[in-house]
Amino acid sequence: MHSVIPDYLIEALADVAADVSGAPADYIPELATADPDCLGAVFATVDGTIYGAGDVDTEFTIQSISKPFAYALALSDRGFRPVLAKVGVEPSGEAFNEISLEHDTGRPRNPMINAGAITTPSLTGTPGLDPAARVARVIDGLSAFAGRQLSVDDAVCRSEMEHAYRNLAIANMLRSHDILTEDPHAVVDGYVRQCSVLVTARDLGMMAATLANGGVNPLSGERVVDEQVVRQVLSVMATCGMYDAAGDWATQVGIPAKSGVAGGLIGALPGQLGIATFSPRLDVHGNSVRGVALFERFSSDAGLHVMEVPPSAPSVVRSNRVDGTASHSVRVIQLQGGIRFAGAERIVREVAETVFPETIVALDLTMVYSLDDVARRMILEVARRLTLDGHDVHLVDPESLIPDPDPGEGGRIIVVTDLQEVLRPSPQGAPGVASGEVPHDRADVGSVAIGEESVG
Ligand code: GLU
Repeated sequence: MHSVIPDYLIEALADVAADVSGAPADYIPELATADPDCLGAVFATVDGTIYGAGDVDTEFTIQSISKPFAYALALSDRGFRPVLAKVGVEPSGEAFNEISLEHDTGRPRNPMINAGAITTPSLTGTPGLDPAARVARVIDGLSAFAGRQLSVDDAVCRSEMEHAYRNLAIANMLRSHDILTEDPHAVVDGYVRQCSVLVTARDLGMMAATLANGGVNPLSGERVVDEQVVRQVLSVMATCGMYDAAGDWATQVGIPAKSGVAGGLIGALPGQLGIATFSPRLDVHGNSVRGVALFERFSSDAGLHVMEVPPSAPSVVRSNRVDGTASHSVRVIQLQGGIRFAGAERIVREVAETVFPETIVALDLTMVYSLDDVARRMILEVARRLTLDGHDVHLVDPESLIPDPDPGEGGRIIVVTDLQEVLRPSPQGAPGVASGEVPHDRADVGSVAIGEESVG
């Protein structure tokens, strides 16, 4: 079968192709030479599948789309506190190049407007790094997000530097407030080099997918930044990513996003996919006209608004049944899907509301593909309470979703990899109970026996 997604992307591009409103940015003369008709779109899944249509391999400069990634690198290199001390996280509702800083502190309001974005690269790498090494750190970091080595378009870089009066003004203001401590000219030069990194829509799709995938590049497998950093970056993209159009974007599209004046646009949907579009004509806010139209369409067609999440909790308990033989009956609670707080609450309720005489209980995670921390802790607490109620609790966990389970005081869990190990009593010892298990009354009650070796 031919996949439906490339066909969908082709159809979406055809629908917006006729819109020739807006114009390529011309405040950087070199950008005005871009082919205004270029049009491409990419979906990159968190497991590394890339779907594309149109001009997905045409190179253009990343421009402001570098901002969230440079911010991620700064947070990763220096930690949250030093970065937050110099750059805020409040939406400014202002144009990208507004010369505005917080009145009292001189801090830029957020890392997505130029004032913040000129500051964040100075917070990458180690303090005191020379300007060339700092730029190399940023370009290597952007490359890790993309999964290939990226390079700078020198012509665009020169062209922007020749007209960078406004960014130099911002940098000088930042220097006067000691937000920047280095030479403002060198800092702007580094920032402009970062903005002049060449990418394709395919690269941007992968960079967005790396954010959607919690900081791990889905193809290279490299962890570029950790999950807390991604959460911070996506939050700032959601509130500040689209300049003074951020509110409209948040309500109508609802995908954490960032645009660039060369016509690129990315969106990262946590846990699902990265999206990138490329079309150089810009609207009054500096966002790609057809890129915005495509994202509006993608969001409504594919239900991608972050606030629109279908309930998954009701389906986490796949079955609650008695299995095994008459002389060896087992209460099987079979779970499924991705389980977070609401799903775990559903499990707790299911177990609490079921009155059952079977001594042996199997919590079967075979069909579960993810558990977050709170779900893990709640399932362990269920196991502990069942033990205290006199049950022998087995955890069927072939993928080690709960590694080294600690059910807490008075709890005991026998971990097995296959439900059959619970249903078929072991010839030696008590039915289904793993040998070598920690006795209930030992001081280290709560530790766990791994059942594999003992199963008959
Ligand atoms: N290099 C551009 C600037 O700072 C980036 C702007 C953008 O893409 O929004 O003016």
